[in-house]
Amino acid sequence: MQTLLPTSIVGSLPKPSWLAQPETLWSPWKLEGDELLEGKRDALRLAVQEQTRNGIDVISDGEQTRQHFVTTFIEHLSGVDFERRETVRIRDRYDASVPTVVGAVRREQPVFVDDAKLLRATTDRPIKWALPGPMTMVDTLYDAHYRSREKLAWEFATILNQEARELEAAGVDIIQFDEPAFNVFFDEVQDWGIAALERATEGLRAETAVHICYGYGIKANNEWKATLGSQWRQYEETFPLLQQSGIDIVSLECQHSHVPMELIELLRGKKVMLGAIDVASEAIETPEEVADTLRRALEFVDADKLVPSTNCGMAPFPRNVAAAKLRALSAGTNLVREELAR
Ligand SMILES: [Zn+2]
Repeated sequence: MQTLLPTSIVGSLPKPSWLAQPETLWSPWKLEGDELLEGKRDALRLAVQEQTRNGIDVISDGEQTRQHFVTTFIEHLSGVDFERRETVRIRDRYDASVPTVVGAVRREQPVFVDDAKLLRATTDRPIKWALPGPMTMVDTLYDAHYRSREKLAWEFATILNQEARELEAAGVDIIQFDEPAFNVFFDEVQDWGIAALERATEGLRAETAVHICYGYGIKANNEWKATLGSQWRQYEETFPLLQQSGIDIVSLECQHSHVPMELIELLRGKKVMLGAIDVASEAIETPEEVADTLRRALEFVDADKLVPSTNCGMAPFPRNVAAAKLRALSAGTNLVREELAR
């Protein structure tokens, strides 16, 4: 029998202090060469143990082998020059120095497939693997070659599909695409964003998920959130399109966010990965708080389609905070499971 309300995390967990500087986003590695390879694999095993011990049902790698959720994937592609940097505006929110697309982009070899095989070998539970979404990849680069966001997104979608098919063959049950850019560029989402995402998932038998969020609790994101008003209705633009798409699961953030819960209704028929853990605050949710968020969601999503989760990644937290939040997620989920079983 399948677990009702299977819990999962969106993505990252804190890295051990011997692998990377703790409580820092996109922290540089502390090891090199073979030691780094071995360190990443050990950290992945610990991330699995941490999730299992704290009651998470769908296991991720906690992004232990990645420095950045977009850039690490792009680093493995040809056609992008990481020495040639340009300053661009990311997600219409903050300026960053980014690499330049200088020629045709290609995946010369698998990027995460070996890591996914290790994850598969480390747990018997269902596993989920996250890849960046095509639009978010485009939004993280300066394009001096295609000179078209749509064309570049399409190339990335083709590459992501190659990677996703190999992840599926490695035993990954759910392939997730992180598309925070979907919360910003609504016209592009409609014009080509959904199509590019569907291209990335073409032919997959594994379940597919898309994670759209308001980002980590970093300054630029918190300032942006402060401008969004009392109701965050960005999802209202994209959910009807996703409801019509071939994507199986949609991940959104609902704990302490100002997202009106009824927007979930726009996804009716899809599975909903519901953020019931805040990643912008170190305060640990009580099980009752988590349960309350899940109960409110159950007015708009069928119980067999609800996947309790975190709002976003937990990389910047101290490890004990992240672990306590995992426990809160599973304890809160258990409360609701018991109610549903009555
Ligand atoms: Zn996120």
